[in-house]
Amino acid sequence: EYADTPLVVRGLRKAYGDGFVAVQEIGFTVRRGQVVGLLGPNGAGKTTTLRVLMGLTQPTEGEIFVFGHRLVPGAPILSRVGALVEGPGFLPHLSGYQNLKAYWQATGRPWEDARFEEALEIAGLGDSVHRKTRKYSHGMRQRLAIAQAMLGLPELLVLDEPTDGLDPPQIAEMRRVLQRYATDGRAVLVSSHLLAEVEQTCTHAVVVNKGRIVASGPVEDIVGDSPSVQLDVTDV
Ligand code: ATP
Repeated sequence: EYADTPLVVRGLRKAYGDGFVAVQEIGFTVRRGQVVGLLGPNGAGKTTTLRVLMGLTQPTEGEIFVFGHRLVPGAPILSRVGALVEGPGFLPHLSGYQNLKAYWQATGRPWEDARFEEALEIAGLGDSVHRKTRKYSHGMRQRLAIAQAMLGLPELLVLDEPTDGLDPPQIAEMRRVLQRYATDGRAVLVSSHLLAEVEQTCTHAVVVNKGRIVASGPVEDIVGDSPSVQLDVTDV
């Protein structure tokens, strides 16, 4: 069941230690070829949802299937998933390329030039990948972090607010990067608090507010004929 589906989430609930219920009744599916936007205002529960999906925090209730494997708390994240949940730090005196290689080698997996070249190509780093990261702009750093999540071309890429702090041209570039990525049977799950961004980037959207899903489906069904959704998510 679900063996070929990157992600299936069912009945997810997360209550923090203080009893605060950050998310409840969260259920959605990410299929190959889709760029799914998890959309909602600050505090809606996006980060909590993504952290649970990445195994960084345990759900109170619910089931998560990654390519049919039930996610078990504490189990290592499948190599078929790449994630950017919290911005990684880079060694300033090394180039972007050297940083990525060091990161990958620390995971214990073999370095395959061709795969990495493809990931860097999709991430659009260009020649600047050979500059020291201390000279990077915020946008470049963000791009390198995405490239790091893409290393090894995982079939499911999970990104928490990747456009945070980027300027409009960089956001447009990020959009192209994610759309390029979700080909060849790969899929992307990306969070955002901007409706326009999800509308322009994603094939599907899951709209959350106050910890619950308020709408989900193909992006063209979500946007436009649902003014309440627009009000909820842009009023932040
Ligand atoms: P943001 O864009 O601000 O990160 P978000 O949609 O990602 O928003 P979450 O970070 O998931 O939202 O937070 C959802 C709610 O859970 C918030 O009200 C937050 O205060 C609360 N929360 C998050 N982490 C904890 C924690 N460790 N303990 C208690 N409450 C928490």
